[in-house]
Amino acid sequence: MQLILLGPPGVGKGTQAKMIAGHYGIVQISTGDILRQEVMTSTDLGNLAGSYMERGLLVPDEVVIEIIKERLQDPDCRPGYVLDGFPRTLAQAEALDRVLEAGRSRIDLALSLDLSEAELVERMAGRRICEKCGEVFHIRFHPPRTEGTCDRCGGSLTQREDDCEETIRRRLRVYEAETAPLIDYYRRLGKLEGISASGDAQEVGERIHRVLKARFGS
Ligand code: AMP
Repeated sequence: MQLILLGPPGVGKGTQAKMIAGHYGIVQISTGDILRQEVMTSTDLGNLAGSYMERGLLVPDEVVIEIIKERLQDPDCRPGYVLDGFPRTLAQAEALDRVLEAGRSRIDLALSLDLSEAELVERMAGRRICEKCGEVFHIRFHPPRTEGTCDRCGGSLTQREDDCEETIRRRLRVYEAETAPLIDYYRRLGKLEGISASGDAQEVGERIHRVLKARFGS
């Protein structure tokens, strides 16, 4: 099963991608996570990407396309994958199609998660991430047992640099201009399912599961 999760920043793609990956035994591939790892270890790629990310801008297409191209060759992708945060532009979507076609593969379905802008801002502004293991919390919707401390590993929780309000707004504008057109792209290919992302992660997960069950039968 080869899936794409589309949707604005803050809609819960990462959380849902992890749930889908766990349920179906496939891998979650998040270009944002891969890039943040590069930033944290100060590689050349990380230094380049970080200069875009901290401003809420997209990293250039050729950089992320190369990352995905390599990642999809890893053996753990064979049973399937859920792409989280890629593609984000038409050029990325077309490049992905070309890469998959060359390997006689294809995307089965793009799930588009939808939520109002006010809720997106609230979700992003309250998001806290463990510095050590990457676990995601939310000060209101999914608070840690001890404030500022990760339930899973005891690491400190921080806010993503790009989760401040001004950058959040810019990321939403970038999404509208660059990524929202992909909804039509996958709709035209007959591969789009729209899903409301309101409610808690469990409710959204159940909506997604119903759609996947109807399409793939498990
Ligand atoms: P995310 O964790 O998916 O919200 O991504 C965080 C940031 O990483 C984005 O705001 C972009 O700067 C960068 N990024 C992640 N995925 C992509 C992509 N497919 N294309 C361009 N930039 C990306």
